Amino acid sequence: MASTTYRCVCGAELRFRQDLEKDESGVYPTWKCKDCQTPVPGKIGERLKHQHPS
Ligand SMILES: [Zn+2]
Repeated sequence: MASTTYRCVCGAELRFRQDLEKDESGVYPTWKCKDCQTPVPGKIGERLKHQHPS
């Protein structure tokens, strides 16, 4: 299965769970870039949260 990567507007490449910051303040958890706090699209966040460097 191909891994998902997401290029944030700040230039960071988000690839693993630890590249994201979880925001649980809303009804549904959302994910943000840990560098710049820009929200990541939900589907992308849901994929990335399962990815860990092995
Ligand atoms: Zn960013």
